[in-house]
Amino acid sequence: MHIPLHQIWQSNLLEEYGSDKHVWQALDELFEIWPHITAWAAIILCAVYAMATGGGQYAVEAIIVAIAHLAIRALSNLLYRRRAPGDSICRWIRIFSACALTSGLGWGLTLALLLVHAPIDSRYLILTVAAVIMQSANSRAHMAPRPLIIQTALLLTCICVASIINGDWILLPATLLFFVFQIGHMRNLIRLRLRQLRAEIGQEQALAQLELSNTELLNANETLRQYALTDGLTGLPNRRAFDMHFAARHKEHQQHAAPLSLILFDIDHFKHFNDSFGHQAGDACLASVGETLRALPLSQDRMIARYGGEEFVMVLPKTDEASAVEMAEILRRAIASLRLKGAQANTGITVSLGVVTLAPRDQAREGELIDRADQALYLAKQKGRNRIEIFRDCADRKALDMQHP
Ligand code: GH3
Ligand code: MG
Ligand code: MG
Repeated sequence: MHIPLHQIWQSNLLEEYGSDKHVWQALDELFEIWPHITAWAAIILCAVYAMATGGGQYAVEAIIVAIAHLAIRALSNLLYRRRAPGDSICRWIRIFSACALTSGLGWGLTLALLLVHAPIDSRYLILTVAAVIMQSANSRAHMAPRPLIIQTALLLTCICVASIINGDWILLPATLLFFVFQIGHMRNLIRLRLRQLRAEIGQEQALAQLELSNTELLNANETLRQYALTDGLTGLPNRRAFDMHFAARHKEHQQHAAPLSLILFDIDHFKHFNDSFGHQAGDACLASVGETLRALPLSQDRMIARYGGEEFVMVLPKTDEASAVEMAEILRRAIASLRLKGAQANTGITVSLGVVTLAPRDQAREGELIDRADQALYLAKQKGRNRIEIFRDCADRKALDMQHP
């Protein structure tokens, strides 16, 4: 990736950062106070050395400027840490730019004051400290090049002025070379950071896309699951859903000491209904029955499913026979009071119901329970329809039949 020089000047990389999160991360780093504290300590060391070696004409002034500058950076750092949660990023970018200029002037003035009329060996130390400070600032320039270029230029200008006062003309081309070197260094860092940033943004976008596809897939899966377990005509759980639910409730029954009831019910004379009004009207009737059954207020563990054709089934866990019969009566009445629309509006429909209850310690299998409910339903049909029969009575009748064949 080639970055022309003018682009380094123009680009405010903070604004090019992909998201607010990235910009705040960069600002956290730019407002960091520790680099300033270390620079300050190095400058104080220079001042003490200059004074100890008989130079340091303006060392006290230099220390005062260094302290003032450090105080400004510390204050800006404090304000940044305590900013309001929804504060504007642009505002803090502007504040940072102002701080960078203050640093250029602050460190520049301090070093220049130390440099003027300093003994020769002290000058080396001061120039080394100046180079280290600039290097440190420029290593963060990839986040905000423009303010940091100005900062470096200001610092170098102050050093140049002090060198001219000292008569060190040779420092002029040296600082110029150093400045060019720093710009090249910045360009490398910017190039690396931009590449990294684009990769990060690409990765984030890919992740977001993946998350979206995942959610869509989960939703589609859930819809498919619903379709697979729902009867299309009545909107009730279908036979598959019933089989799964019943197996689970039956297993629970085997593990806990509670009764389990089942109601099997079937629309009376439905063949005749179909023959009279047509298959379409029969379908509409089944849909209305489904709607009525779905509207019944049921506890979560109770399920009414379409067992097949015009036959329905209800599972009632932890329900004894008396409560199951009560529920069966609610079902019978709900269907009997159902008003159909169209030509068949005056035709009342009824259901016959067979109830069976598995006592807590009864080991009967699922199939056996359905068979018993079917026997009770058969009895209800035999006894004239639109009524409820309990399997217990079928069993009693069988026993009676065996005694008096
Ligand atoms: P019973 O009172 O003894 O139950 O008599 P029935 O006529 O209801 O019983 P039968 O088993 O003789 O007939 C059931 C009818 O239900 C026959 C079949 O066409 C009809 N049926 C089953 N499923 C559907 C369906 O999905 N739509 C329609 N329209 N009719 C259906
Ligand atoms: Mg029927
Ligand atoms: Mg039937």
